[in-house]
Amino acid sequence: MKNEGIVGVSPRSSAAGFSGLIQRWTGALIFAAAALVTSVFFIDFCAAVFRCGCVSLWSGADAHCNIHMAGGRQCPWCEYGLLASAIPWALIVAVQAGVSFWPRPMRAGLRLASAVVAFPAAGAVIAVAYGISEGYWK
Ligand SMILES: [Zn+2]
Repeated sequence: MKNEGIVGVSPRSSAAGFSGLIQRWTGALIFAAAALVTSVFFIDFCAAVFRCGCVSLWSGADAHCNIHMAGGRQCPWCEYGLLASAIPWALIVAVQAGVSFWPRPMRAGLRLASAVVAFPAAGAVIAVAYGISEGYWK
């Protein structure tokens, strides 16, 4: 009789703990996959928005970016080097982390799709902010 409370409570709380753990791991996996997509295609996105001459990582990256051209406009994501271009990357990845770990029930597939889509969505906002503040499209 005196154990009833413990028996009644503990399985439920351990089940919640377990599914919480699964949820966290799913979030971590989704986040890792989404961040990987961003890392691989970040430079392609830069090229698409700024038309700066950047190409995919595996075919020359920023070798032909307009930052190497004297005069003329300079791609605002490549202009200040790799370290500075990590800032827009980190902003995008932060949004993806928010989607991946959002404490709200969501199907894993949908969450993954949302986290991946956050890349071009957040990326577009950040890129436009960079472009405008740098006067890139004057
Ligand atoms: Zn570029």
